[in-house]
Amino acid sequence: MASASIARSETGDPLLLTPGPLTTSKAVKEAMVHDWGSRDAAFIAINRAVLEGLPKIIHGEAEFVTVPMQGSGTFAVEAMLTTFVPRSGKVLVLVNGAYGLRAKKILDVAGRANVVHETAEDTPPDLAEIEQILAADPAVTHVFAVHCETTSGIRNPVEAIAALVARLGRRLLIDAMSAFGALPLDSREVAFDAVAASSNKCIQGVPGLGFVLARKTALEETKGNATTLVLDLHDQHQAISKTGQYRFTPPIHVIVAFHEALKEFLAEGGVAGRGERYADNARILIDGMRALGFETLLPEARQAPIIVTFHMPKDPAFVFQRFYDALKDRGYVIYPGKLTVADSFRIGCIGDLHAKDMKAFVGVVAEVLKDMGVGLKSAA
Ligand SMILES: *Cc1c(COP(=O)(O)O)cnc(C)c1O
Repeated sequence: MASASIARSETGDPLLLTPGPLTTSKAVKEAMVHDWGSRDAAFIAINRAVLEGLPKIIHGEAEFVTVPMQGSGTFAVEAMLTTFVPRSGKVLVLVNGAYGLRAKKILDVAGRANVVHETAEDTPPDLAEIEQILAADPAVTHVFAVHCETTSGIRNPVEAIAALVARLGRRLLIDAMSAFGALPLDSREVAFDAVAASSNKCIQGVPGLGFVLARKTALEETKGNATTLVLDLHDQHQAISKTGQYRFTPPIHVIVAFHEALKEFLAEGGVAGRGERYADNARILIDGMRALGFETLLPEARQAPIIVTFHMPKDPAFVFQRFYDALKDRGYVIYPGKLTVADSFRIGCIGDLHAKDMKAFVGVVAEVLKDMGVGLKSAA
């Protein structure tokens, strides 16, 4: 083991096979090695380019605006829910993992009425049941859905959910945090009022900026809805569109790095190019791990190419902490499971990771299993 090579990113760091923050390019990190004043014209121009570029990713440049929100992705989700849902509103929350549950908690804290449709972590929401709930409860104004529920890696059918929600005359709010930029979401075909995402997932920036792409006509109706000052997207949008500046200190370095990350994203071919690389990564990972005897939680049809959940092998020689530590020693950081349906662990396919990294990773997993005395092919 001592002679084996250790995987490293361009900047000599372990590779993060996690759902974010994730491995970023050297150029993205180098973009931050400067100082800018928040009123600096150069920074204001970079900020504007970022805000104007993001709606194009959902083909929404005519109908949508970007409202950024300082903080991690959850800040953007909380801002979206508490700005778009009026105090008299009620939300149907679709839950099949931790992020759906978090949205419910946000609504509870904010005093917004809500009802939950929950399915198991490996099961998409039931459209017929959503229809029944909406038909029976006219008080429900909004539906909240998670595009890729990162808890398991399941791809939820946002297109079908959106069609149903629109048919029943309600508004859709989407948490697309771990899918944005990799899974297509076309606002010309999928009806929603707002979608939340962040700098440090599939766009491959560094953490610190959330954002909400808001339908202009819907955002205009949200004045006075907010129940916090900081997370008020209507107010944030007013200030930025009038002055080009944030109301409160912006995460300048994060925004400049995000600008660089967006350039790399476009150079790779946008959603199509990035989605394809991640799909390749996921394919290599899943095929390789299955050949070693591991089993995925999800069937192919439900698996997003973002993060893959594997069942914990039953062989008593497999001790997850040893497996994790041995992979870390070889330069790969993986992710523990967070599931109730199965004892599991997760491996991410996103970030500055390429086919060669995934192939090398699978090779190292085989070596680690051997070192642990876990029988290949009988691992699961
Ligand atoms: C990462 C993620 C978030 C935000 O998490 P933060 O830790 O606040 O950045 C929200 N929803 C989903 C689906 C995510 O994957």
